[in-house]
Amino acid sequence: MKRPRIAMHWQILFGMLAGVIFGFLAAKFGAQQFTVNWIKPFGAIFINSLKLIAVPLIVVSLIKGVSDLKDIAKLSRMGLRTVLLYLITTVVAVSLGLLIVNVVRPGEKINQDTRDKLLESYEGDAGQKIEVAANQKEKGPLQPLVDLVPENAVSAASSNRNMLQVIFFVIFFGLGLLLIAPEQAKPVKDFFDGLNEVILKLVDLIMLTAPYGVFALLATLVVEIQSPDLLLGLLWYSACVVFGLALMVLAFYPALVVFFTGKSYSFFFKGISPAQLLAFSTSSSAATLPVTMERVEEHLGVETEVASFVLPIGATVNMDGTSLYQAVAAVFIAQAYGMQLDLYGQLTIVLTATLASIGSAAVPGAGMVMLVIVLGAIGVPEEGLALIFAVDRLLDMCRTTVNVTGDATVSMLVAKSVGMLGEPHVKEWDDEYHPETAD
Ligand code: ASP
Repeated sequence: MKRPRIAMHWQILFGMLAGVIFGFLAAKFGAQQFTVNWIKPFGAIFINSLKLIAVPLIVVSLIKGVSDLKDIAKLSRMGLRTVLLYLITTVVAVSLGLLIVNVVRPGEKINQDTRDKLLESYEGDAGQKIEVAANQKEKGPLQPLVDLVPENAVSAASSNRNMLQVIFFVIFFGLGLLLIAPEQAKPVKDFFDGLNEVILKLVDLIMLTAPYGVFALLATLVVEIQSPDLLLGLLWYSACVVFGLALMVLAFYPALVVFFTGKSYSFFFKGISPAQLLAFSTSSSAATLPVTMERVEEHLGVETEVASFVLPIGATVNMDGTSLYQAVAAVFIAQAYGMQLDLYGQLTIVLTATLASIGSAAVPGAGMVMLVIVLGAIGVPEEGLALIFAVDRLLDMCRTTVNVTGDATVSMLVAKSVGMLGEPHVKEWDDEYHPETAD
């Protein structure tokens, strides 16, 4: 008999809730240091183990994906649609953010006292982000293209920050594999097919620890939150960002999925929710990537050829949540400084926030660094970053959830358009099936 098991998303939610409660209790009873010493490391171990398999997973699944395509025309068709959909969803997100922030005008609701306190408290933190952004600005316009091609494959694969370089090399390698005689390609392909199965099994194993990992992450987060009174001052701003992000996750993406693929609302959320919860808990699309890939392939029915191509690229360049946040934040800061943005200014935000979100790394806090570039483009003082620092960690969690959901949505649409959206095929030993508990 199969023992009923709690679905993965409930297990993770339970872990998150327990973490938040623990964090509040720890803060109340003075156990902050205990939490930092004895709980926090387990959160770090969990994130590290996810990151650990991100590069190997991209390498093996993309090689498998490209070589399974058997047809270069299909690859370019898929590539074109992916890029187009990523751009469209990002522009929709930025526009939605602009609409909300211009209607609500949160920057005019913040009082002088809170504003000065925020500027003073977070001056140093903001300065650090501005410095990082300044280094990025110094590069020429074609530098991103140059950066795409690594000069050394092994050193590119040695850092998760070089995800795009790794993807470039692997697609290149996959093309080579497609172009040689099938009998010569076979042993190489078989090797990577087997390796792919091993890595997917590692994802399953790591996911068994997810409820404990998110417990540690959220307990630490609650304990480390500073100045809760300043958080209140930013309520209107935070509400605008969260409202926009919620519309994307709860309305825009599911509408696309239902309309273009015919799958239901609940099917979509049941499949993707564990990845969304992990994105929320880790604030990192890159760390969530292994789980996103597994859920999309096994629970949403996207074939490996599509998922392994669309998702790693999406994790690095498609950040709808980040771009929406950047639009709201830029206008909010302008409003708080009493500046009026004309239509030209607003259009500049659409352009720069789209580009800035593409350039943001898939790690916690990256969206804020790139926000400096958006601020610079519309002539808003960069020091204004200090105004939004207090709530950035929390908003980062929400925007990362949107980033991951956007990638999953596009992968379903691309798969449908090339006839590669099948039925879910949950592998054994996954959350829904455990051999040891079955007859
Ligand atoms: N943390 C986000 C991500 O990993 C990026 C950001 O800071 O907006 O997707």
